Amino acid sequence: MTKKRLVMGNWKMHGSLDQNAQLLNQLIADLGNAHSQTDIVVCAPHPYLAQLQQLLSGSPIQWGAQNMSEHEAGAFTGEVSATMLKDFGCQWVLLGHSERRALYGETDTLVLAKTQAALQAGLTPVVCVGETEAEHEQNQTQSVILQQLQQLLELSPDLLRRLVIAYEPVWAIGTGKSASPEQAQSVHAYIRGLLQQAEAPNVRILYGGSVNPTNAADLFKMPDIDGALVGGASLKANDFLSIAAA
Ligand code: PEP
Repeated sequence: MTKKRLVMGNWKMHGSLDQNAQLLNQLIADLGNAHSQTDIVVCAPHPYLAQLQQLLSGSPIQWGAQNMSEHEAGAFTGEVSATMLKDFGCQWVLLGHSERRALYGETDTLVLAKTQAALQAGLTPVVCVGETEAEHEQNQTQSVILQQLQQLLELSPDLLRRLVIAYEPVWAIGTGKSASPEQAQSVHAYIRGLLQQAEAPNVRILYGGSVNPTNAADLFKMPDIDGALVGGASLKANDFLSIAAA
């Protein structure tokens, strides 16, 4: 099965109506045929999803959210459900980003519950995993990744095949210090092995962590890197499109 490359932008908590309009209009105008071989997705803060729906509908650029509730509805003040994201045309949702895990205490069990809720609603969950710098230095990368993925790997193969996994070493996020293509590939190959054992070998595995227009092409040459999750560089249209076209 040939997999289409996937390049996703994570705007984090950045943007304004004016800035977003400028960025999205430039993405649409300069897209060229970058989308012919690559799925291109932007993930915005919740309040701007209506703007994305308005500006991106009919364009080849897809959109999604950066988080959601594990619950469908109810007394969960401040939360946003998968169905609400669907109302605004989202097809994608990032789950378990390292900032959510580190700053908001998201556990593997919670990420699993959110993943199940997203699948139930027909969204594609992009589940983020990755080790911290200390874990990296202590050679614990594989055990950390295994722990983060273990419960997800018990999903039925049919469900598992609908996921995307993003490998994002925490030490590479927002630091300008990307993993080398070889370093990333070795972790992606490990994740691929786990997915193969779980009968979902074709799940797309994205790399994230200081991806930029200069390093993207070399990362994408690696056999198990199926695309990128891009933070900082997704806020600049030229940079994001160069990565998508790399
Ligand atoms: C991210 O936020 O998921 C990310 C990878 O950020 P950056 O590209 O800025 O390292």
